[in-house]
Amino acid sequence: MNNLRCPLCGLSHIKRNGYTHYGKQNYRCKDCDRQFVEDSQHIGEEVKDLIKVLLLERLSLRGICCVTGVSLTWLLDYIARNVSITLRHFGEKFRLQEEARRPLPAEAADG
Ligand SMILES: [Zn+2]
Repeated sequence: MNNLRCPLCGLSHIKRNGYTHYGKQNYRCKDCDRQFVEDSQHIGEEVKDLIKVLLLERLSLRGICCVTGVSLTWLLDYIARNVSITLRHFGEKFRLQEEARRPLPAEAADG
């Protein structure tokens, strides 16, 4: 069995639904009736936002795949295509961590 999940509701109650004009296997979700093609995942903006948050939280890539249902291939491609976005997010996080680590002026004077 495959591990297909509906790109809309994330459930895996999927049945085959014929082929597209391009000869790709088409699927339909039994829960929400969403039709989709296996190898052209459409990832919604809300999922992409969630992925950015999870990247910030330093969740492993496999963990992000597990949580959001995207494939590792897609995730790697997404990060590669959005490297400036993710770097900016990571950069902001690191800057905040640096500031948090910095001793307060009073403590520094004491030492
Ligand atoms: Zn669905």
